[in-house]
Amino acid sequence: MTSRTLDIRPMSKRWGSFTSNRRIVLNVDLVRASPRLIDYVICHELAHAFYPDHGEGWRNLLDTVMPDWMTRKAELESSLR
Ligand SMILES: [Zn+2]
Repeated sequence: MTSRTLDIRPMSKRWGSFTSNRRIVLNVDLVRASPRLIDYVICHELAHAFYPDHGEGWRNLLDTVMPDWMTRKAELESSLR
């Protein structure tokens, strides 16, 4: 049996989360988002594997792997609400 590392389910208040048992959960509503915005959520949550909060380390990591993450974040927040 394999353990699941990704769950997709309805979430009322957020697009995704990184759980304490190191799994990524994505909001099923992301199915309506463009792939580049889904990529942002995945990168966002994966960065939490290294940094639990949204502090400087987390931001530096996102800046490195996805330099336009802030643009994508803004797009996501404005497009699907
Ligand atoms: Zn986060």
